[in-house]
Amino acid sequence: SEEMLVRSEKLSVIGQLAAGVAHEIRNPLTALKGFTQLLKSKAEGNSFYYDIMTNELDRINFIVNEFMTLAKPHFSKFSTRRLDHILHAVISILETQAILMNVSIRTEFENCIPSIYCDENQLKQVFINIIKNAIEAMPLGGQITISAAMEPDQERVRLTIRDEGMGIPDSIIRQIGQPFITTKEKGTGLGLMISSRIIEAHQGLMHISSVPDEGTTIEIILPLNMEEEK
Ligand code: ADP
Ligand code: MG
Repeated sequence: SEEMLVRSEKLSVIGQLAAGVAHEIRNPLTALKGFTQLLKSKAEGNSFYYDIMTNELDRINFIVNEFMTLAKPHFSKFSTRRLDHILHAVISILETQAILMNVSIRTEFENCIPSIYCDENQLKQVFINIIKNAIEAMPLGGQITISAAMEPDQERVRLTIRDEGMGIPDSIIRQIGQPFITTKEKGTGLGLMISSRIIEAHQGLMHISSVPDEGTTIEIILPLNMEEEK
């Protein structure tokens, strides 16, 4: 079993620039897609190359959209929220997909799950990313267990999201969380990078451990209240 700490940096100037560029790419992309479809409609039955172009344009669009979530911290909205509500909301979003994939999602929450000072939408995005990865890691189905418990200091909460999936090969676990590192045909390798940045913005920690063919555990520790930045 190999372990690693997902390192994350504050949203850098380069990150902001990249998000800005991604935004600028979207308009020309929309025009390209529109005209490709126009050409296709005039192709009289021979649309093969236009279909490829449309698919590739959709792919660019998908990556650009994922990338743009990097720019989100600009619009961040912090307030005090109940963590169990956030988690249940995310589970209900993903439940249909999970059932289709033969995956059950179980929660083990301590009686007293606190409210935390957070950006609710960003935390939702983190949990969606992580639970989706867990579902995708179990093509034959299985169980995801989400537990939440207070740390002994009573100032931080520890979340654990565990699956019984294929695990992460030792050869790449150190790279996981860097942009574009993916083992999936249709993956972007952006999910965990964005998630770790969001956790960092909440002054939290994210930790991945994985045993190939047994499963993966993601641990997140979040302070209930954030310290003021100096
Ligand atoms: P993507 O899902 O688009 O590939 P992510 O950043 O979400 O990008 O994940 C990066 C990679 O980390 C995945 O391609 C996969 O190899 C690995 N990974 C993440 N979560 C899990 C998991 N629960 N089980 C197995 N592998 C995982
Ligand atoms: Mg993912």
